[in-house]
Amino acid sequence: MHATDTLAEADRLMTLCNSCRYCEGLCAVFPAMEMRRDFLDGDLNYLANLCHSCGACYHDCQFSPPHEFNMNVPKVLAQARAESYAAYAWPRPLAPMFERNGLKIAIAAALSVAVFIAGFVAWSDPAVLFAAQSGAGSFYRLMPHNTMALIFGLGFLYAMVAIGMGIRLFWKDIGEPAATLVEPPSIWQAMKDASTLRYLDGGGVGCMNDGERPTDTRRVYHHFTFYGFLLCFAATSVATLYHYLLGRIAPYPWYDLPVLLGTLGGVGLLIGPVGLLMAKSKRDPAVVDEKRTGMDVAFLAMLFMTSLTGLGLLVLRETPAMGVLLALHLGVVFALFITMPYGKFVHGIYRFLALVRYAKEKRMLEMGA
Ligand code: SF4
Ligand code: SF4
Repeated sequence: MHATDTLAEADRLMTLCNSCRYCEGLCAVFPAMEMRRDFLDGDLNYLANLCHSCGACYHDCQFSPPHEFNMNVPKVLAQARAESYAAYAWPRPLAPMFERNGLKIAIAAALSVAVFIAGFVAWSDPAVLFAAQSGAGSFYRLMPHNTMALIFGLGFLYAMVAIGMGIRLFWKDIGEPAATLVEPPSIWQAMKDASTLRYLDGGGVGCMNDGERPTDTRRVYHHFTFYGFLLCFAATSVATLYHYLLGRIAPYPWYDLPVLLGTLGGVGLLIGPVGLLMAKSKRDPAVVDEKRTGMDVAFLAMLFMTSLTGLGLLVLRETPAMGVLLALHLGVVFALFITMPYGKFVHGIYRFLALVRYAKEKRMLEMGA
């Protein structure tokens, strides 16, 4: 007995695949499946999160529709994966956010915070909101640095706690001991596999995004998005160190490290999400989990808007538009933080953890343990 119909269907598919094994060279899912005879809910959630949705096993399968076996591994694992995100959500009452149209929620949250910040500044001194500012500390004439750090620190901390609770539930569900999380060889292997998106290549030919013609488009745009996000995170971290360790106050000149990292990351976050949205629009409908399209679009749109408002702020920071743009950018960043545990962002966390477990299992198998 399984907790959901999706997991029952995933069990049927994995049991059939385990007899066939034709796809074992395509990705990590099939070798991980072959290490098992029975599939508990936790095993299926693990396999679902290990799947990168390249689509190859649908197009390679001789039992895909219209065959009566109706094999559709990418779609069923995508459904199981999305349902697992909701199952691990913390706190529990917020789990339905995965089902709703996340874009509307994220935009509403971003605008609310932006309007709050702009209203707060306009109420205390309207001239500051619409006057051109320049020099060190110009951002903090709108909102003191400590207030900004407190609001965003709390938002970020909340997201980290919620994601941490999700990780705990996932790890418990798949039945893996906590010690695996501190095994350097497994972590290192998972980092290599995740950073290159090794299993998005359909066994070496490319991702079958829009039919049977393999392409690397999704992987390329995913890299723009992922590394763009990391560079923006690095820019914020360096700026924080500048502020607290060196006493250097933002904004910084264009050639300074936080601006260079942020600009490069921002460009990545413009190109990547647009490319991924275009790839999504062309995706073969046969393997798509339509119910979760809103969740995916919301996350990509929020990343794009974070970058757009950030780069807009960089270009116009010495003009009268700075106040409104800063409020908008902070609103989008805050909304991104608080919606992160309830949207597509978590796919990176659970997939990485699944890769850690797979690296360990593979190593054990090779050692004959
Ligand atoms: S997806 Fe089809 S071809 Fe691939 S292992 Fe499963 S049953 Fe065999
Ligand atoms: S990664 Fe690709 S080949 Fe592997 S299970 Fe998922 S869709 Fe199939």
